[in-house]
Amino acid sequence: MSEKTDLPHPADDVPPPSYPGQVEGPADVEDSKMVVTYTTIAAAPVVHVVSYREGPVRVQCGQCNEEVVSTVSYKQGILTWLLCFLMCLFGCWLCCWIPFCVHGCKDIVHTCPKCGAILGKHSRV
Ligand SMILES: [Zn+2]
Repeated sequence: MSEKTDLPHPADDVPPPSYPGQVEGPADVEDSKMVVTYTTIAAAPVVHVVSYREGPVRVQCGQCNEEVVSTVSYKQGILTWLLCFLMCLFGCWLCCWIPFCVHGCKDIVHTCPKCGAILGKHSRV
């Protein structure tokens, strides 16, 4: 039984024969110079995109520049009036005030708890 080894063949270490016309010697000095170029890349301003949803969000107030958790309030919006109109249209005119009492039918307004500035709105439509 003969074992196969993964050792390289002794001929692999021998450099290939030079071709006629090939000049052996030190590499070209111009090519061997290392050129280091430093490029300064200005950091882009970080823009935080906040999506205002139903719940309060942590956001930096543009008015007082403090990081706050927004206060949520509900205001009547397009959906509120649309539902009221549809209820009147289909004969439920006695119940058409209900969308004005249901938070799920109103737009959401996020305000800053410190300065009261409006940070953003979330429309239902
Ligand atoms: Zn504020």
